[in-house]
Amino acid sequence: MKKVLITGAAGFLGSHLCDRFIAEGFYVIGMDNFITGDPQNVAHLQSNSNFELVEHDVTEYISIAGELDYILHFASPASPIDYLKIPIQTLKVGALGTHNLLGLAKAKKARILIASTSEVYGDPLVHPQTEEYYGNVNTIGPRGVYDEAKRFQESITMAYHRFHGLETRIVRIFNTYGPRMRLNDGRVIPAFIGQALRGENLTIFGDGSQTRSFCYINDQVEGIYKLLFSDYAYPVNIGNPDEISIKDFADEIIKLTGTDQKVIYQDLPVNDPMQRQPDITLAKKLLNWEPKVDRAEGMKKTFEYFKSLSQDELFKTEHRDFSKHIKK
Ligand code: NAD
Ligand code: UDP
Repeated sequence: MKKVLITGAAGFLGSHLCDRFIAEGFYVIGMDNFITGDPQNVAHLQSNSNFELVEHDVTEYISIAGELDYILHFASPASPIDYLKIPIQTLKVGALGTHNLLGLAKAKKARILIASTSEVYGDPLVHPQTEEYYGNVNTIGPRGVYDEAKRFQESITMAYHRFHGLETRIVRIFNTYGPRMRLNDGRVIPAFIGQALRGENLTIFGDGSQTRSFCYINDQVEGIYKLLFSDYAYPVNIGNPDEISIKDFADEIIKLTGTDQKVIYQDLPVNDPMQRQPDITLAKKLLNWEPKVDRAEGMKKTFEYFKSLSQDELFKTEHRDFSKHIKK
């Protein structure tokens, strides 16, 4: 039985990857320090004898007994409000965490896939974004902690590939959504759906003309799975090219939720990218992959998930306590 280590396993993407690898017959070690994730996301796997969840901060030395075939490094705060609150942890997990995992992969002769992001393109001047584009990132802006950690992550991964001959894979993930996103993580989909369900106004940042392209979780997991088993070591965009402005998206959510909420306008966060759409030509050619779930279907499933949360959960204002993860 092949063994895979998935970091960030208690998070949104990581928990869905755990499901997929269990379903494919792997032994899965999920690792997480629960800083932005929740063990509840993998609670349904706890009784499975092919799954174990290890609480560990991957910026500290990582020890795994026995053989290991694959590593998927998904640990990292991923929502702008999370990484603005824990900037140093974000830089550390992308840099030190990735270094530890590459060292582990080398020691175990394991193949490693790392989760990069469309944020490596920053506020892009090329549209849609192809893998060749070098990006437009403000190194010292508030988002720089995430963007530069991910850019460093790609560089050190390529260095291990070139210098040590390590088998590496890099996925550049574009905005992905679905069940198990944290209601209060501040990302636009849980934010808007939560507001609609609570009867609050939807908060549009800026004038709402900025665009995003949203990919449903099942499509994302399929793309990542195919990339891991490809023989391509360079970055590959995985996302859904169907682009929409945030203003139009707010209107869609109001229709979907059957509410008659108003929208209100707030300041656009610094360096918030004005446009984003993946060019997925490479993924189509290399992996024979393209997204299958359109936004209407994906959003319906996502709305069902958020609707199923209890009233307590819906109205709980989460002030996540990051203090126990922060060294003074
Ligand atoms: P998430 O916050 O739901 O999950 C991240 C998980 O990593 C959490 O469970 C968190 O507790 C864990 N974690 C963070 N720091 C850690 C550390 N030092 N040690 C161990 N565990 C740690 O976020 P997500 O949306 O599931 O994102 C997962 C990965 O995918 C991230 O690397 C993110 O950058 C990348 N990504 C996600 C998206 C998206 O749209 N969801 C887009 C681009 C990239
Ligand atoms: N956004 C918004 N209102 C919110 C949350 C987000 O208008 O309550 C906007 C945000 O400014 C950005 C877009 O929605 O332009 C997507 O934001 P998200 O945090 O989901 O992801 P990212 O900016 O990382 O793509």
